[in-house]
Amino acid sequence: MKHHDAMFIDGTWRPAAGAGTIEVVNPADERVIATVPAGTAKDVDAAVRAARAALPGWAATAPAERAARLSALRDQLAARTEEIARTITAELGATLGFSRRVQAALPVVITGSYAELAASYSFEERIGNSTVYHEPVGVVAAITPWNYPLHQVVNKIAPALAAGCTVVLKPAEDTPLTAQLFAECVDAAGVPAGVFNLVTGLGHVAGQALAEHPDVDLVSFTGSTAVGRKIGAIAGGGVKRVALELGGKSANVILPGADLAKAVQVNVADVMRNSGQSCNALTRMLVHRDQYEEAVALAAEAVGGYVAGDPQDDESRLGPVVNAKQRDRVRGYIERGVQEGARLVAGGPDAPEGRERGYYVRPTVFADVTTDMTIAQEEIFGPVVSILKYESEEEALRIANDSAYGLGGAVWAGDQETAVAFARRLDTGQVDINGGRFNPLAPFGGYKQSGVGRELGPHGLAEYLQTKSLQF
Ligand code: NAD
Repeated sequence: MKHHDAMFIDGTWRPAAGAGTIEVVNPADERVIATVPAGTAKDVDAAVRAARAALPGWAATAPAERAARLSALRDQLAARTEEIARTITAELGATLGFSRRVQAALPVVITGSYAELAASYSFEERIGNSTVYHEPVGVVAAITPWNYPLHQVVNKIAPALAAGCTVVLKPAEDTPLTAQLFAECVDAAGVPAGVFNLVTGLGHVAGQALAEHPDVDLVSFTGSTAVGRKIGAIAGGGVKRVALELGGKSANVILPGADLAKAVQVNVADVMRNSGQSCNALTRMLVHRDQYEEAVALAAEAVGGYVAGDPQDDESRLGPVVNAKQRDRVRGYIERGVQEGARLVAGGPDAPEGRERGYYVRPTVFADVTTDMTIAQEEIFGPVVSILKYESEEEALRIANDSAYGLGGAVWAGDQETAVAFARRLDTGQVDINGGRFNPLAPFGGYKQSGVGRELGPHGLAEYLQTKSLQF
């Protein structure tokens, strides 16, 4: 596959300081499709220096000029959507349809939203006898995961550039090719040298060196809670700003009176998208005891429509998971669910029929799941739905909030008022009401251990700004 044997630093593709490489594997057939350099602390240092040198110039550009560069970046991403979608499918395993519709298309919308925000945002306000300036935080370290390889990058880089910050990106080991395409687009958009830099590498080497670098002002991380905790500690030690977008175990609460068939079907589709590798996936379905068996049957039927297949095939609705480690992890959780007494309604820990090669997992539904079970508490990150039973609204609320996480959620009810009243009592950052659609401008981020800070829209922009007050 097309790739660079280089890092993008200070506006040029240059060789890495060391000789280490990372193999990029297609999860559908386990073949190596490319190798990219494994950056070290030296590469990170060169990238941070370039970002620091470019900061005064970029921070001083008029917001309209930053908006123009972001518009050009949006156009670049839009023009290369098909290539980006195919690259994401090759290195992540997302079905091509999903890669086109969501993985490649959504970042175009989000980059466009930051082009508009850069032009319209009030970077200056008057409070009493003060003028308050909203200034860029400085040099940003962006560390991103593989599950949405472009979306997670754009969620950080677009607002950082809009704010006037400069950036060093360390993308996930599994999906560096998408990050390289993004760097090409930034370059073609006419963003000045040093404003955006890309260092590919291992998390505990390049990622850690970047988070620890004394000349980084803000670390923005998306990934596992375990690594997020480390990054938070590093940032605290260095008195740096930090944003953490971590895991989730989101509840879909179906109240009596809701359209049960629709609520179950939407829930199953939500967990199957991206092979279950979405941090806000509705992995816990809560159903009233009177409708419980009907919901279980509906879920089993719905999941039957997701047959694991080659993600390059237009007909496929479920691809593999990203790598062997994730496959084994997900299958381990399925085994654990069985051991702990949950009722396996569909799927199971074995490879799907005819899919022994590739990192495939059978789409799985568990019933009779209780909150004390591991599969009700831990983020599985695979195509696995757990269905829990409640007797009263109060119990449903207790179960929904009985989680270390609080990222997404959904409520279905016969009327909107009931659903909203319930949603207001959930300890979580987002709730979709009766199938409400994803809003790329609404703040996205977690309560509790799902993270610190918000991405998207004006709230996402504010993360990259700091205030200076002048008194008159
Ligand atoms: P991870 O947290 O290890 O990786 C995320 C990013 O952090 C990658 O770029 C990685 O290279 C980097 N990283 C790893 N160790 C680091 C360190 N010590 N210092 C700095 N950077 C470091 O995630 P993973 O191992 O790829 O996935 C494990 C689990 O994390 C998944 O099963 C899932 O539960 C969760 N996850 C959540 C999200 C999300 O969007 N919230 C995304 C991916 C994974």
